[in-house]
Amino acid sequence: MAKLPATIIDFHAHLFPDRLFESIWRFFEQGYGARVIHQLYYRQCVDYLRLRGIGTIVYSNYAHRQGVAKAVNDWNLEVLEEIPDLYCFAAFHPGDTDALQMAERLLDHPRILGFKLHLLVQRFYPHDERLMPLYDMIQARGKRLLMHVGTGPVGNEFVGLAHFKRLMERFPELPVTVAHMGALEYGGFMELLHDCPNLYLDTAFTFYPGRPGSFDLGPDALERHQDRIVYGSDFPNLILPRETELDCLLGYNLPQAFYDKVFHANARRIIDGITGKHRSRHPIGALK
Ligand SMILES: [Zn+2]
Repeated sequence: MAKLPATIIDFHAHLFPDRLFESIWRFFEQGYGARVIHQLYYRQCVDYLRLRGIGTIVYSNYAHRQGVAKAVNDWNLEVLEEIPDLYCFAAFHPGDTDALQMAERLLDHPRILGFKLHLLVQRFYPHDERLMPLYDMIQARGKRLLMHVGTGPVGNEFVGLAHFKRLMERFPELPVTVAHMGALEYGGFMELLHDCPNLYLDTAFTFYPGRPGSFDLGPDALERHQDRIVYGSDFPNLILPRETELDCLLGYNLPQAFYDKVFHANARRIIDGITGKHRSRHPIGALK
């Protein structure tokens, strides 16, 4: 029987300042009619995951509107200072006047892997012209993006495979991890792995059998792309148990190499690739 590796890397967790967490939880109840199971604040989230075999945690947050990225990123710098073995995809909003200067400085932090773009919530296209300098910067600095750009569990005019393809045609080598395996257009996002050498998919909130929108291509597709998938939990913003996803993936009973790669080695390679190339331009204390 396959098993999970001894230390798991969670490549898609969320940590937010307390007040933002609370408003996200309220949004889930009012907007989706679903209660977030684990309403835990950032230290509690880290403790919860650490007790369950997660070593390295890669978390993200995002700027849901203009003007909030600075405060969220100041908070990120404090949290990274406080908690070791934590990595971050920080907040970016292209509407902020100082967005690029802020981004340039943040990328100096060795444990800021890049930025999270949540196109569904932030409501701009992945190929928005305002993002092009950010993409150039990410490539030049050897960093990465985490993008929520799929149509699941809900979509709008800013997300979907067609928009993402338009970006990748222009930046085929862009280092980007697509959240939720690209839900719901799983096949199309997997196809793109062949043309885009730095594209990865994460598993977050995708393996809930029987739930509409759950991953539907079967275990063979996973095994074929096992070098380009990383495990992520979406914790703590989950409306179904985190364990269900682990049980589903283990239940496929794929060769052990699949679990070793997806739950550890692939993420390790990405992180080491970024931190190995890292050259700080400013001392960390001077980032704010
Ligand atoms: Zn997420």
